[in-house]
Amino acid sequence: MSFTSLGLSEPLLKIIQQQGYSEPSPVQKESIPIALAGRDLLAAAQTGTGKTAGFTLPVLQRLAKGQKAGANSVRALIITPTRELAAQVNASVETYGQNLDLTSAVVFGGVKINPQMMKLRRGVDILVATPGRLLDLYNKNALHFKKLEILVLDEADRMLDMGFIHDIKKVLAVLPKQRQNLLFSATFSPQIRKLAKGLVNNPVEISVTPRNTTATTVTQWIHPVDKKRKAALLAELIKSKKWHQVLVFSRTKRGANKLSAFLNDKGINAAPIHGNKSQAARTKALAGFKNGKVQVLVATDIAARGIDIDQLPQVVNFDLPDVAEDYVHRIGRTGRAGSTGTAISLVCADQVKQLSDIEHFIKRLLDRQLVDGFEPEHDVPVTSLDKRIAAPKQTGNGGNRRGGNRNQGRRGNSNNSQPNTNAKKRRRRPRKPKVATT
Ligand code: AMP
Repeated sequence: MSFTSLGLSEPLLKIIQQQGYSEPSPVQKESIPIALAGRDLLAAAQTGTGKTAGFTLPVLQRLAKGQKAGANSVRALIITPTRELAAQVNASVETYGQNLDLTSAVVFGGVKINPQMMKLRRGVDILVATPGRLLDLYNKNALHFKKLEILVLDEADRMLDMGFIHDIKKVLAVLPKQRQNLLFSATFSPQIRKLAKGLVNNPVEISVTPRNTTATTVTQWIHPVDKKRKAALLAELIKSKKWHQVLVFSRTKRGANKLSAFLNDKGINAAPIHGNKSQAARTKALAGFKNGKVQVLVATDIAARGIDIDQLPQVVNFDLPDVAEDYVHRIGRTGRAGSTGTAISLVCADQVKQLSDIEHFIKRLLDRQLVDGFEPEHDVPVTSLDKRIAAPKQTGNGGNRRGGNRNQGRRGNSNNSQPNTNAKKRRRRPRKPKVATT
């Protein structure tokens, strides 16, 4: 299916083409026609699925038809849990809307409110906001919602996790009843359903189910390492283990570019693949990876969707994903078609929350292996399956090797087929090194 069949207008199709998107992602295929038709939507979709374009494109198209925003007025309101996400969504609004005569602004806390009030004076067609600052601005009469046409709640589950429910309810109370609602959430917990009940009107529900991978065997463990030494450790692993074809996941496009450049400097042939790369560049990187010219492909989650290579031997999470389910999708890239593969995550202390969420999700603690010369100064705190995270230790260098869970801080190699050249084995308990993923 192509973007043209979704009912999008010419200016938007042009931008999509410039972005190098060859076909809509599953969530876009479903959400765009529904949102364009003016229906309410409940969408279960995680970051990396292309959900932002899934709501931004139809919002832009619908607003392009109506009357421009008047003073202090907002026509579409997109609420996100974090300022990073708000900035990211606003960047998408600006990118996709560049051929349209629409205005947008982004507001979030932690910065001065006055410049934001100034920005809103003449009104904006699209406002991207975090809940607290939005309320502050409303209470200062910097904006009103009398002409609001569309409300988008992005990452609603995270908003609830972060305790924004009261702010959200206050905002909902001052919105006009007659409006279109688009609610995106990674999961649909009972709390989200409750929130949605008082919000959407006869919605269409869509859920983007991750692609199935064949039952397979994946050996997985983590290397605790300081953030600043991750790239060097990766280069070391690639060289010492002689990995020929490794897919590395980076959380950001910029990170993918940086890491790829670093590896190339070290004489390792690497290429980044992500949404900012043209289709031609992506095709070339992928072809190189398939024929062995490119040893390492550094990908963001969504870009990795297009990579369909059987029996990928090695997957590395350079960054852990923010959404635990993504971890399973990522490691499902290896060990296809019944073969075995290894999935390794480089984890620094400040990613312990993500680690804990993943371990809770997959219902097992991941084996930890320290690599000689790369022991972290900042220990990754001890985790447990009930999501308890121990207080971080003051001193580093494997201080957690002795305490806590027995999976914590083992030096050396798990039961993987390629021995870690530098690692000393310190087995403490028999373990199940392999898990089946489906
Ligand atoms: P999101 O899930 O909205 O955070 O999107 C993740 C990334 O996917 C963004 O960097 C987008 O630029 C990219 N993207 C969105 N739609 C597509 C598409 N149809 N094809 C390829 N990349 C896309």
